[in-house]
Amino acid sequence: AGATGLTMSPLLDHTAPDIMKIITLREGKERSLLRRHPWVFQGSIAKGGADAGETVRVQAHDGKFLAWAAFSPSSQIRVRAWSFDEAERIDAAFFQQRVQEAVALRQRLAIDSDGIRLIHGEADGLPGLIVDQYGDLLSAQFLSAGMERWKDVIADALVAVTGCPYLYERSDSGVRGLEGLEPIKGWLRHPETADGSRRSTEVTIHENGWKLTLDVAEGHKTGYYLDQRDSRGLFAKLVRQFKCKTVLNCYSYTGGFSVAALEGGATDVTSVDSSGPALARASAHVTLNGYEASAHTALDADVNGSLRAFIKEGRTFDAIVLDPPKFAPSAAHADRASRAYKDINRLAFKLLNPGGLLLTFSCSGGIGGELFHKIVAGAGMDAGVDGYLLKRLEATPDHPTTITFPEGEYLKGLVIVRK
Ligand code: SAH
Repeated sequence: AGATGLTMSPLLDHTAPDIMKIITLREGKERSLLRRHPWVFQGSIAKGGADAGETVRVQAHDGKFLAWAAFSPSSQIRVRAWSFDEAERIDAAFFQQRVQEAVALRQRLAIDSDGIRLIHGEADGLPGLIVDQYGDLLSAQFLSAGMERWKDVIADALVAVTGCPYLYERSDSGVRGLEGLEPIKGWLRHPETADGSRRSTEVTIHENGWKLTLDVAEGHKTGYYLDQRDSRGLFAKLVRQFKCKTVLNCYSYTGGFSVAALEGGATDVTSVDSSGPALARASAHVTLNGYEASAHTALDADVNGSLRAFIKEGRTFDAIVLDPPKFAPSAAHADRASRAYKDINRLAFKLLNPGGLLLTFSCSGGIGGELFHKIVAGAGMDAGVDGYLLKRLEATPDHPTTITFPEGEYLKGLVIVRK
């Protein structure tokens, strides 16, 4: 019965939304699903189709069950697997359980902050869903056709499991276009109020003992970059240990690394970013955390140009952070991105005092850790400086990767001490 889809027929199960559609793969194309990798590309499909986000049964060319999945008619990633267990039902209870499991992991991780990534897409068995908790606020991105279809069920589960009454949707990311979805942003869940008023979208979170503010409606992504929490904490310690006084924080966003530098004892911190609102918040964070406004300079400028200008001026720094946006959205962009990474790292090495610290990152999934190391090594060669590799950095553990989905590993960083 399984092979014909009969067990899922609405005649036998009154809760099934409609008759289960079947996607049959080309011969040999079942391997990746058999290894529990959750994606099937368009070219692997022999026959079958469904509506956007509809649950389908994916089978091998010989009819063998492979996965229950969400279909996405306009995406290159045509199918995203929900489950590899034929006995599983993809229904509200299924999603509630996935949400519960994801939140339970974060509780066991015992993260010392009230800004936490609760759901990290594929790694949590919820492809296309990102949810961050900021205090009593949840901020979510629904980025795939399957997630769009189950949005209401997920929203209810999130509020029920976390007890957070406020859920804001930030599905205004460009990647939704690849799934044939429009950008959407606004409150998804909000308690009723007598006068219809709404909670402010501003919230203050606590990270490494600092107060940081964000606006879930206006900030980047869901509002903040939680994946760098541990690296920011480490930076504060390193700045103190290496007695860094002058610090350059490139791609600062709202200045998390700048506050870290001040905590570490830096006396002259420069934040560079091309976003004015982010920089205004960076400056506000300096005084909010009890540091002198005069210890911080906010520079609304392009990083590459600023680094070149600093070199011309003969300025140098005791510590530099390079945390650029994703230069390589996919492996196809790796070449151009490699040159861009090499360029900024070369410039940073030139600006670094002997004995100074460089924290350099790449959040491009298309640039692996080994390649990133090579790029940075090449940059050091070109700048004529060598350094000790103190430590390799990665995203915080609330942004987990699974062993079956290596693509999930995106953020990598190096801590280098200049010789
Ligand atoms: N380090 C930050 C996160 C950085 S995200 C933190 O800890 O929170 C990347 C930042 O780079 C964004 O704030 C974006 O506005 C900025 N950015 C992107 N392109 C830039 C450019 N060419 N020059 C300067 N800033 C840029």
